[in-house]
Amino acid sequence: MKTLFFALCLAGSSAVLAAGAACRDQALALEVLGSGGPIADDARASAGYLLWRKGKAVALVDAGGGVFQRFGAADARLADLEIIALTHFHTDHSADLPALLKGLYFSPRTRPLAVSGPDGDGIWPSLDAFLHRLFDRKAGAFAYLHGLLDGQDESLPMLEPLTIPSTSAEPAAVLQRPGLSVSAVGVHHGPVPTLGYLLQVDGRRIAISGDQNLSTDYFIRMAEGADLLVMPIAIGERDEPMALHARPRDIARAVADAAPERLLLGHWMARSLRDKAQHKQRIGAAWPGELIEARDGLCIPL
Ligand SMILES: [Zn+2]
Repeated sequence: MKTLFFALCLAGSSAVLAAGAACRDQALALEVLGSGGPIADDARASAGYLLWRKGKAVALVDAGGGVFQRFGAADARLADLEIIALTHFHTDHSADLPALLKGLYFSPRTRPLAVSGPDGDGIWPSLDAFLHRLFDRKAGAFAYLHGLLDGQDESLPMLEPLTIPSTSAEPAAVLQRPGLSVSAVGVHHGPVPTLGYLLQVDGRRIAISGDQNLSTDYFIRMAEGADLLVMPIAIGERDEPMALHARPRDIARAVADAAPERLLLGHWMARSLRDKAQHKQRIGAAWPGELIEARDGLCIPL
């Protein structure tokens, strides 16, 4: 029997279930699949967040390296997903996508699977181009999975590609399903087209930011009053590159503006872990909500 590790960390009015707890048993919950960045030496998978609703994993946001393994360990099923929503195409947010999708061969799923991501710019492909470079029958690196795009393989369901503008100031509708609505807006991550998502489900609002330096406030406006705001913390106060990432003081200011009920800090890296206690104190002092530090496998009931 699976050992359930119900170490409850009581903080404020809510409870967080420690790694190993069965998130799928919650009516509604967000599970951290990966709490790290692009370097493999910290025993953390790269970015990935899984939304659970009534025992089903309905949305996966980001699929960085390691998320493939964590997805299975979480007991999630590809057949249940309504969407895989990618924030951007850095490897630590997207590299496990083909590995995950290959599993559709062995899944009972026949209905299409929505996959969303940003538009392209320069060397950065759009979501559509990204999928074609992976799965196109002639030019794809994994051409053997062409059925995901052209429907010519009865063992594979098709993908439903959703390319979302990353430069508009207004949130765009991404997906509407019974009980689940997903929207997204661009965030500034240097030259990399990047999105932040808002998941609205059963009266709850969960805002998940892609990597960003917080030089635009479109996402923070969209996230205002969220039940849970997820922010990456990739650098310390004096680390570069600030063109790509927000310093803890920037996160503190943004959290004060967005005023979420709870804040989940993810995307930890050695340089942000170095003064972790200090960063958490600074950000925690910015607003009266509950601050949660992401770990792989952490489950946050909503
Ligand atoms: Zn990243």
